[in-house]
Amino acid sequence: MTKATERPELFIGGRWTPSVGGERVEVRNPATGERIGSASLGSAADMDSAVAAARASFDDGGWATTPPARRAEVLRAAADLLDKRAGELATGITTELGCPIWFSERAHVPNPIRQLRYYADLAEGFAYDETRTDGSNTSIVTQEPVGVVAAITPWNGPLSTPALKVAPALAAGCSVVLKPPPETPLTAYALADAFAEAGLPDGVLSIVPAGREAGQHLVEHPGVDKIAFTGSTAAGKKIMATAADRIARVTLELGGKSAAVLLDDADLDAVVPALLPMALLVNGQACIAQTRVLVPRHREAEVLDALAEALRAQRVGDPMDPATQIGPMVSERQRDRVTGYIATGRAEGARVVIGGDTPDGAGWFVNPTLFAGVDNGMRIAQEEIFGPVLAVIPYEGDDEAVRVANDSRYGLSGSVWSADRDRALGIARRIRTGMVSVNGRPQAFGTPFGGFKQSGVGREMGPEGFRAYLETKSIAVGDK
Ligand code: NAD
Repeated sequence: MTKATERPELFIGGRWTPSVGGERVEVRNPATGERIGSASLGSAADMDSAVAAARASFDDGGWATTPPARRAEVLRAAADLLDKRAGELATGITTELGCPIWFSERAHVPNPIRQLRYYADLAEGFAYDETRTDGSNTSIVTQEPVGVVAAITPWNGPLSTPALKVAPALAAGCSVVLKPPPETPLTAYALADAFAEAGLPDGVLSIVPAGREAGQHLVEHPGVDKIAFTGSTAAGKKIMATAADRIARVTLELGGKSAAVLLDDADLDAVVPALLPMALLVNGQACIAQTRVLVPRHREAEVLDALAEALRAQRVGDPMDPATQIGPMVSERQRDRVTGYIATGRAEGARVVIGGDTPDGAGWFVNPTLFAGVDNGMRIAQEEIFGPVLAVIPYEGDDEAVRVANDSRYGLSGSVWSADRDRALGIARRIRTGMVSVNGRPQAFGTPFGGFKQSGVGREMGPEGFRAYLETKSIAVGDK
């Protein structure tokens, strides 16, 4: 295992390999701007090597034909190895990404470990073959691994997003080239360390952090059978168009602009403390962040007061401090993007109730910001800001609430808040989105994650996230 914060080499086909022409980047702590390590970014030539290794490992059938129970053992061993490093990984994620340490400890580290164990169990017990007969003919309907997978991930879940692709893909028998982003190139290598030690055969997994150009090269590569992408809708469109050229399989987990719909009977004392963490997840840099707060017009002032008071009490600062609720944006560029949207909101005529500025001192922080006077047609209500910025939007009656919630190109997440669970459930069913929560309840583990409309194609997590790495084959075997 190499040093976790200095990664001068790429993990190609199971071996630490120098980049061919790739750039070296310094990784900085977004809370301080200080250097925390460095990594090499892969070039197009490195992607070619990684795909060649994946292709060879897949085509020789070794991992793909390994019994699922043995594959499961490797996944479980990798999970145990990650578990042993949990504390170090949580610190690493927080210093690389800037999310509060308690979130790294409670979510960013344990969730991917749980996913590895979950997909080990699922793959081991999965019914790959089913016999179907119509009385005269009999076929075996079998599930095979989809092939070589290009897994492309963003920076806001440095371990969890890679694991959501790598775990089901490896469990299914695929070979994987994982491309983490340049902003957070370090943490995903923990998967390389763990799988190498757990006995994954060489060639099956490559991890090559890289920028867009090398990413695009990977997507265009004819040796890639499936692209599993998480990132922006703009990049997702490009990737889907590229995949179309050779009908490569594609799943896309894209952006969101989710609505939290407060019904007229919602109890604000219960709603506000539950809603805020759902809006400010990863310092507001989460695809599922509940950033449009829809409120009955007659309760607008009351909701604004309650949200402003709660946001004022949020502790912004050092993400390594367990009391911190909001850390920095991942990069200076992301901080500027968020402050740019705040300026756009003001220019559009929305009113800043609280925040709207950045704290003094080092680091790429943005103070939590609440907008009032927002019309759903404004850019701040339609576009993904990806920062700690909430917009309160008034409505009249349940039908208008549903119409405004659905008036979005996105459809990833959402929530409905009411004293009457059945009434909230009725509204939840009318929202065109992949995931909805009634009164802030978390989704059960193993339920599918993904979006309607421009929030994506396909689902991750649960059995749906496993089937995404399988191809169906029908074999006619006779007349009985
Ligand atoms: P991004 O689209 O700029 O980049 C995501 C990844 O794709 C990075 O690794 C990047 O290098 C790569 N990439 C970009 N263009 C590419 C191309 N043409 N070909 C190949 N690779 C390419 O997104 P970002 O700014 O890093 O992340 C934030 C976005 O991710 C937000 O829109 C957010 O909503 C989305 N996201 C979605 C989910 C989800 O599950 N739906 C989860 C997390 C983040």
